[in-house]
Amino acid sequence: MTRCYSEYAIMSRRVTARPGHTKWEVQNHIPAGTILKALITGGENGPWLKFMRGEITKEDFLQEFRRLCSEISNTSVPVDNFFSLLTSEQVAKQFPVMTEAIIQIRAKGLQTAVLSNNFYLSNGKSFLPLDRKQFDVVVESCVEGVCKPDHRIYKLCLERLGLQPSESIFLDDLGQNIKAAASLGMRTIKVNDPEAAVKELETLLGFTLRTVIPNTRPVRKTMEIPKDSLEKYLRDFLGTQTTGPLELLQFDHGQSNPTYYIKLAGHQLVLRKKPPGTLLPSAHAVEREYRIMKALASAGVPVPKVLDLCEDSRVIGTPFYLMEYCPGLIYKDPSLPGLEPSQRRAIYAAMNRVLCKIHSVDFKAAGLEDYGKHGDYIPRQVQTWIKQYRASETSTIPAMERLIEWLPLHLPRQEKITVVHGDFRLDNLLFHPEKTEVLAVFDWELSTLGDPLSDVAYSCMAHYLPPSFPILRGLRDCDLTQLGIPTAEEYFRMYCLHMGIPPTENWNFYMAFSFFRVAAILQGVYRRSLTGQASSATAEQSGKMTEFMSDLAWEFAVKEGFRIFKEMPATKPLTRSYHTWAGPRSLPSTPGARSYISLPEPSSAHASKGALVISPEGLSPPVRELYERLKQFMDRYVYPAEPELRRHQASAERWTPSPLVEDLKEKAKAKGLWNLFLPLETDPERKYGAGLTNVEYAHLCELMGMSLYAPEIFNCSAPDTGNMELLVRYGTEEQKARWLTPLLEGKARSCFAMTEPQVASSDATNIESSIREEDGFYVINGHKWWISAGQQLHSQLMQKRFRLCAPSQRQENRRFCVGQDDRTGDSSRNLSPTPRSLHPTLGEAEGHFLSGFSLLRGILDPRCQLCVFMGKTDPHAPRHRQQSVLLVPMDAPGIKVIRPLTVYGLDDAPGGHGEVLFEQVRVPKESMVLGPGRGFEIAQGRLGPGRIHHCMRLIGHSERALALMKARVKSRVAFGKPLVEQGTLLADIAQSRVEIEQARLLVLKAAHLMDVVGNKAAALDIAMIKMVAPSMAYRVIDRAIQAFGAAGLSGDYPLAQFFAWARALRFADGPDEVHRAAVAKMELKNRI
Ligand SMILES: Cc1cc2nc3c(=O)[nH]c(=O)nc-3n(C[C@H](O)[C@H](O)[C@H](O)COP(=O)(O)OP(=O)(O)OC[C@H]3O[C@@H](n4cnc5c(N)ncnc54)[C@H](O)[C@@H]3O)c2cc1C
Repeated sequence: MTRCYSEYAIMSRRVTARPGHTKWEVQNHIPAGTILKALITGGENGPWLKFMRGEITKEDFLQEFRRLCSEISNTSVPVDNFFSLLTSEQVAKQFPVMTEAIIQIRAKGLQTAVLSNNFYLSNGKSFLPLDRKQFDVVVESCVEGVCKPDHRIYKLCLERLGLQPSESIFLDDLGQNIKAAASLGMRTIKVNDPEAAVKELETLLGFTLRTVIPNTRPVRKTMEIPKDSLEKYLRDFLGTQTTGPLELLQFDHGQSNPTYYIKLAGHQLVLRKKPPGTLLPSAHAVEREYRIMKALASAGVPVPKVLDLCEDSRVIGTPFYLMEYCPGLIYKDPSLPGLEPSQRRAIYAAMNRVLCKIHSVDFKAAGLEDYGKHGDYIPRQVQTWIKQYRASETSTIPAMERLIEWLPLHLPRQEKITVVHGDFRLDNLLFHPEKTEVLAVFDWELSTLGDPLSDVAYSCMAHYLPPSFPILRGLRDCDLTQLGIPTAEEYFRMYCLHMGIPPTENWNFYMAFSFFRVAAILQGVYRRSLTGQASSATAEQSGKMTEFMSDLAWEFAVKEGFRIFKEMPATKPLTRSYHTWAGPRSLPSTPGARSYISLPEPSSAHASKGALVISPEGLSPPVRELYERLKQFMDRYVYPAEPELRRHQASAERWTPSPLVEDLKEKAKAKGLWNLFLPLETDPERKYGAGLTNVEYAHLCELMGMSLYAPEIFNCSAPDTGNMELLVRYGTEEQKARWLTPLLEGKARSCFAMTEPQVASSDATNIESSIREEDGFYVINGHKWWISAGQQLHSQLMQKRFRLCAPSQRQENRRFCVGQDDRTGDSSRNLSPTPRSLHPTLGEAEGHFLSGFSLLRGILDPRCQLCVFMGKTDPHAPRHRQQSVLLVPMDAPGIKVIRPLTVYGLDDAPGGHGEVLFEQVRVPKESMVLGPGRGFEIAQGRLGPGRIHHCMRLIGHSERALALMKARVKSRVAFGKPLVEQGTLLADIAQSRVEIEQARLLVLKAAHLMDVVGNKAAALDIAMIKMVAPSMAYRVIDRAIQAFGAAGLSGDYPLAQFFAWARALRFADGPDEVHRAAVAKMELKNRI
């Protein structure tokens, strides 16, 4: 029979508990009975019951209640103070006897429910100071709008439990509530004293609800062991014929090796065994535990006394060992509630000392010389846990992937060898009940010979975990000073002092490794929980915890990365070998650029893993080879194609993709020069791209930045790059198949739609476009502009304007709305003029750049199939949780491209920047990326590495501009001598060189930090380079234009386009001011 045990209603008990408010009334000099009278005044329509039914807010309740109390008592009553008492932690605390009873009831497979008269707090949450996980059903009066003793709320609770009244037992401390339950046919217990109530419940249920042995519970079903066979074995072992039942309980810790309490014939023992089922290699070795505990006991380390090892699996199914049961205290909560600060400090000191004792054991003398390998413990451990993790991996966890790369590169250079416990933490220690003395250290499963610092770091993990963390309660956000608990650093220093060693500098490595190892262990537990082998009920949660732990591990890796970076010797010759790179060696002659300074021979390579590579010569051989291949391709195909591409851009066909670009794309793909942009960190398995680090790509990207056409040829142009990275990082497999694949193949293009004309979009939280849920779809409405994309839609407009006005669905969806009704065929106001009318003086002449700068491709491009759309799903959510991102097909009905925008009169064909309306655009729910409210987070992630690609390319623009400038000033004569001999020009050249070098170093540093410490930690450097690079390029290009004379402004050279682009990037990637503000904010925060 399934029964319901309804925990007594917390609210009724607390509010009507006479002693509570009577005492309060005395303390506050309020006439006795005032509170009770005020509570019942008004009956059903009184403030108290209205509050309980969730009909009035806390503030309204307090106001009304204050008035009533004052009327009743003729004095001012501090009801706020009373309310604080009512909701205080002390009053709200659940009785331990009840908690214990609930555990026992649930362990028997019965259901539990809480039926509470409660209310909403000011934060909108209902007040229920219980762990909701204890109950199968939670029914709250303020949520349901009905209070006990109204029958409806009891019936609701029973309905949710799926029970008849007679199948339930109801506990409450209020007579009227009990009466109502009884009248419905429920069995009832009136709670006057919790202890007595539990006894009564035990009688009704027919089993015990108390655990006599602390931290034990009835044996879990999946962990049962054959009792008869065990009993026979024990009787033989103990040599006892005494009759009496074998008592068997299971300790609720022992995630890995199940541990049991045994009582037989007056003997109290502990049995520890391997878990059942197929196990990972070398795990759960109880034989080793037995051996080390035996050896350590002789060496004076406090461990439980081991009695017997049984390796015969026939007895209980697996090998096991027996030890003496030691009574004492186990502190499960590291904040040590209920103790004095001095006691807490003493407990942590005792813990520290016992660890030192373990590490000081002469393992050779203790007979443990062969207990583990000697040396290279951490490298071996790193490999072991990588292997274990891989063996139990169920999905890709980005932080684990990063750590798997990072840890082997940052191993400690020196290590000491001692016995290590491997799982040393507070709740594996048994303390004396009266003294701060460690009586026993448990759980030696992971012990071996190894680096003792790994134990120290491991025992500090709780400091970084939240108090509610399921497997190991933590101390994060606790006021350690007030508690008297040493910080992790103090604890570590205490250890070093006891051991007489200097503090190690790579402490963060050990912390990262500790969290990584636990993440790998949890993954194993999780995997086993999927196959039903894990021994703890919390095993299933471990899947989620793996991710959490790996993120924490990565935080320490980041810290360590910074430490290493700061300590990099300034004297190391990590120099770029050619500071005065002139530009492409074999660049075909461009009008006005007659000579090029040849490159000096590169110096020998200086490659160092994880180091800041500041010149292409420092790249690793395969990347260097890729760089050379790219350079050759630029020389052989890209620069020679520029005149034709310029001609195309100035022609009437400019809004259609250039066949030459398409041809070059195929060539680049064939040469493996494709999708070079995807950073290794996003694509660790190189599934989608070349797997370059950000620093490596920086060198290649700069090279691509030498020509305006190059990025698209290598499928490395924005905004596709950012969108592809977004899909790799956050897309589902279906989203990837639909959108990522064609983008990676270069068959489709995409755009990113965030900016809106009506709001200041430099602040992304301002955006107003709405995303609404309707009939299983999302419906979008919004007005966007500056949505960068490609040309061909525009060309469709130009070539088939009238067809666009026809009512065909697709044409209608993607038509340009030009103010006038397109359907009438009146194109007089159409904003898509012929090239001639746009640039009347230039006509279709060859060699003109003016039609655009082509670095962005997207919305106007007929190949633009995808719009990554940012809108608001919930304008009432916290500021950064209002936005969501949708993947919108460009042919969805309701998308109207109003007009292409121009930058300094350049229309950026074939890319273009569109102003677009989204009217009632419907997309399926699967179009959402990550989930509602994650838009801001995605936008930040999207702008990760992509954020500095523009900067990398700007260095390329600047180098090219400077190269052109130098060639020009050497070949042109004014006032009787070459321009180069004019002092001002020399100064300009020098200034440009210096500025380029400065900016490049900062770009490379930002990229390097993104590689070694992650995008988040590199935020300052990313913001700095975004501040620096566009302005630097703007000045360098401006000087080049000045040196060129009027020709510099023409379309004959790339300078005008470079210049326009550098200027545009002072907005397009976020305005300068925003980056400046970010830098200043971080500067003030971090460096004072
Ligand atoms: C060529 C080009 C391509 C673009 N491509 C895209 C695209 O593909 N998709 C897309 O969604 N958007 C795109 N944009 C738009 C670009 O992202 C926005 O222009 C930019 O975010 C600024 O927004 P805004 O124009 O609304 O300026 P506003 O937000 O109105 O800001 C105007 C000015 O206010 C000042 N200001 C703003 N914030 C601060 C601050 N914190 N402190 C001090 N002063 C401040 C600055 O001077 C700033 O320039 C593109 C823009 C250009 C020029």
